Amino acid sequence: MQFATFADRAAAIEAEPADLEIVAHVTDLLEDAEADLEIVARFVQGRVFPAWDSTTLDIGPSACYEAIARAAGTNVDADDVEDRLAEMGEIGDVAASYDFGGQQGLGAFTGGDDGSGDDLTVREVYDTLADLAAAEGSGSQDRKVDLLFGLFNRCSSEEARYLARLVLSEMRIGVGEGTVRDAVAEAFDVPEDSVERALQVSNDYGEVARVARDEGVAGLDAIDLEIGRPVQAMLAQAGTVTDALDEWEEAAVEWKYDGARIQLHHSADGETRVFSRNMEEVTDALPEVLEYADETLEDPVILDGEVVAVDDDGSPLPFQEVLKRFRRKHDVEKAREEVTVRPVFFDCLHAGGEDLLEEPLTTRHDQLRAVLADDDAPEDEDETDVEGLSLLWTADDPDEIEAIDADALEAGHEGIMLKNPDSAYSPGRRGKHWRKRKPDVETLDCVVTGAEWGEGRRANFLGTFELSIRDGDDLETVGKVATGITDEKLAELTELLEPHVAAEDGQDVDLEPAVVFEVGYEEIQTSPTYSSGYALRFPRFLAVRSDKEPEDADTLERIESLRS
Ligand code: ATP
Repeated sequence: MQFATFADRAAAIEAEPADLEIVAHVTDLLEDAEADLEIVARFVQGRVFPAWDSTTLDIGPSACYEAIARAAGTNVDADDVEDRLAEMGEIGDVAASYDFGGQQGLGAFTGGDDGSGDDLTVREVYDTLADLAAAEGSGSQDRKVDLLFGLFNRCSSEEARYLARLVLSEMRIGVGEGTVRDAVAEAFDVPEDSVERALQVSNDYGEVARVARDEGVAGLDAIDLEIGRPVQAMLAQAGTVTDALDEWEEAAVEWKYDGARIQLHHSADGETRVFSRNMEEVTDALPEVLEYADETLEDPVILDGEVVAVDDDGSPLPFQEVLKRFRRKHDVEKAREEVTVRPVFFDCLHAGGEDLLEEPLTTRHDQLRAVLADDDAPEDEDETDVEGLSLLWTADDPDEIEAIDADALEAGHEGIMLKNPDSAYSPGRRGKHWRKRKPDVETLDCVVTGAEWGEGRRANFLGTFELSIRDGDDLETVGKVATGITDEKLAELTELLEPHVAAEDGQDVDLEPAVVFEVGYEEIQTSPTYSSGYALRFPRFLAVRSDKEPEDADTLERIESLRS
């Protein structure tokens, strides 16, 4: 297809306000793309490469301005392009405002609507951009500008408009992923569901369009996951335990690890690649994950999980620490000395030669355990001992779930995730089958009236704090909160509370009222366990209210008003 034809069609799409008409235009475009279908299906969305491919052009706006300026003629420089941009506000308009000097460019400018007179094709544009992306090392920026200049030099104004936008990822003609999905279904008469599924597993609109056209629905249904080609991560919605149990009767409960999402691909020849949640390759930044894979994995697998920063004892460190490692390209070994990371996997998308996306969550987790378990370990080994495997329980009792949440916080994690045990893995979906706890709507200021000394490494720290609210002159208990925070924070809280210890009995400590905690919670329930008659469900430590005295803490009346 001529690039001029593509540019004309893009202009028509851009001018079209109605969504349905846009789909009709894209349908026509795909039908007419012939051998260039894959490229056209991506270009129309403003993409040069498939979504799974983290290759970038790696060319900044100023290099693009320079290429435009050079193509525009001797009197123009990059500053002039920037000035026009400031005036016009959009790079496509700026590029289209020049008459490019190249012979073919002028030819195209005077050519007909179908781009006759111009010989620049979408394939040439793609091939040149692929060369441009591949240019590396010293002098590569100059080479990129040269290549791009070569393209602009052959463009008409309208072609230049869409080339500039494509290069700077600013296509903005109103074509989203849904538009292309609908247009592929329409153009090649295949069911939308099949297109959708094929897109989820391949993340390549070009390939899906070509297969839909050439092989129909059978071809689409045969597109499978591929090791080395990342898929989008399944995401979570906010929700409450109550909602989850109402809907599913039983929930799969997992610890929520506070790290960065990773997708690990391990191939038959033993190569491991790791991708971020945005499908960017982060393999080189995470040698610990590669070492883990070398030791643990034998067969080809695709795993979904989290990479967490840990201290010397293996306890989790705050999320900010992972960030110091996650996308690092240089000095990885040095960074590793400062912050260690380890992977925790919670899902298995492919194992045993099969894609598992359609399998229920619990089956996928069983497969995951089989993949990660040490074959030499004794049969009855507790699953909690499988290194790198997320902990998962199925529960239908809110009290049990609350206990899991408290344990997760106590172990220094973020809390819990709730998942529908029967649900499939839906790449890229933020559906209702995965829930993270809703942010707390209200908070309460409670007096800390008791605590427990920790165990093991935390023996010198106070933890699991008893919370009370005021009832006239009395203080009545309303719950206990584990902090879910770092040793550093626990040390700080211990220092603050220890002077107020009134009595000790084993690990249990009574505290005189002195310190006020701000806590979040999911619900307030009536409860015989605490003297106030109420219990905070899923209490969360948020902060010390050093500006408040116990007399300023919240009251039983407030609890009652919050419940009504
Ligand atoms: P969002 O996904 O809403 O954009 P986010 O990236 O900050 O936001 P959260 O919403 O807080 O993440 O929670 C979802 C994330 O929690 C997942 O993407 C994953 O990285 C992480 N996570 C930790 N433990 C688990 C687990 N057991 N199961 C699924 N996700 C988990």
